[in-house]
Amino acid sequence: MLQETTSKQILIVGAGLSGLTVARLLTNSGIPNIVFEASMEDRSQGFSISLRDWGYSALLEALGDIPLRSLTRGVAPDRHIGGHGFVDLIMRDNATGDILVAPDPETQPSIVRANRNALRTWIADCGDEPLDVRYGHKLKSIEGTVGSMTAVFENGAHHRGSLVIAADGVHSTVRSVILPHIVPEVVPAVVYHGEFQLPREEYDRLLRPLIGDSNILAGVGDGFNTPITVCNLTKTEAHLDWSYSRMACGNDDPLYRPNLSAEESKKIPQALVDEVASRNLAEPWSHYLNAEAMQKHSVFHWTSRCVSMTNKDTEKGAERGVVFIGDSWHAMPIFGGEGGCHALVDAVELAAALLHQDGGLDKVISTYYTGAWKRCSDAVRRSKGRFFVLHRPMADWRELAEKKAAATVK
Ligand SMILES: Cc1cc2nc3c(=O)[nH]c(=O)nc-3n(C[C@H](O)[C@H](O)[C@H](O)COP(=O)(O)OP(=O)(O)OC[C@H]3O[C@@H](n4cnc5c(N)ncnc54)[C@H](O)[C@@H]3O)c2cc1C
Repeated sequence: MLQETTSKQILIVGAGLSGLTVARLLTNSGIPNIVFEASMEDRSQGFSISLRDWGYSALLEALGDIPLRSLTRGVAPDRHIGGHGFVDLIMRDNATGDILVAPDPETQPSIVRANRNALRTWIADCGDEPLDVRYGHKLKSIEGTVGSMTAVFENGAHHRGSLVIAADGVHSTVRSVILPHIVPEVVPAVVYHGEFQLPREEYDRLLRPLIGDSNILAGVGDGFNTPITVCNLTKTEAHLDWSYSRMACGNDDPLYRPNLSAEESKKIPQALVDEVASRNLAEPWSHYLNAEAMQKHSVFHWTSRCVSMTNKDTEKGAERGVVFIGDSWHAMPIFGGEGGCHALVDAVELAAALLHQDGGLDKVISTYYTGAWKRCSDAVRRSKGRFFVLHRPMADWRELAEKKAAATVK
């Protein structure tokens, strides 16, 4: 069944940060588009992400010079209590709670935290015309060439359009259909993630003394990290998550399991419980990272993957009427994360190229990649290195702390 779309329509696959942003910007400028999303509308990815100034500034400017406060009022994890998504950028020793490294007092942190569900909703709502998002549309294949594309969905729907924007994330179906040789690279990292709720009174008593007004309590140990982050904070409740991460120790590492099924990845292995117990964590980390507490949390094993493309790959995509944005072409490790910011900036830059097109879609696509290429490939490299820096031995953290203290005294 061929649906009502015309060949002028732009077909966007994926309603994540990049897909919704490009759809919003095109819709605000009157360019017809439809977003197709595999999951249903009520999906939840309640965790928060850090937005860097160059990421949110590009978005706010493209949306019409919207002030930052409008964004934080809509998306900050602590927005319900008047917060701005502040992050203090302090790294603490998770065995004592002591500060290891803190930013210079005169430096204003430029990162803001955003609840991911709230951010998606905020972007989708940022204009007069509603977005056309078709949920429950999982892409199966695409056919055609630039100017005349057909997207085929698992539910039997077919849609025609001029161009396919692949905004379908790290496991992109579009990429696997047209560039099957690109297989995401698994980062040799152990990452477990737990989500939990607690009464506000407990949050104020146990976490507030260290976390203060920040939305992240960054705890580091000897080669491992235990951040606790705020997903949502209200007058009565706190919705939080923790991560436990370290480098993988070879193929026999009982916690490095990159090929787990979705079901298995939700189980808490005894090796995790034992390892965390051996870490001698201080409060408040010890209160939440222990066998009894973890059983009550929603825990999953996270496999971190990177995606890189060559110029040839993107050219081949363009010949097939596809342009990639976000994680579909440059997924990167989540530590010190910036993937979401690049997803936003890709969408802004692609929308700008489409709006100012002169010379056809081929030219638009090549203008977009020329601008985005270095930014994105540098970011994948940088993010890989950041994992090692964040998981350095405690002796190196202490050396860094001493150097910083000595520089402050001078
Ligand atoms: C735990 C975690 C923490 C992170 N922290 C940060 C951070 O602090 N800062 C930061 O900048 N980034 C962070 N990131 C990375 C950031 O979330 C991603 O880079 C960003 O969401 C990528 O956006 P995207 O639109 O490319 O893909 P996604 O947000 O993954 O969206 C892709 C969408 O496509 C849909 N889809 C997939 N396949 C199909 C199909 N076949 N048909 C239709 N739809 C499909 C998916 O359901 C999904 O909705 C973090 C990521 C994780 C997982």
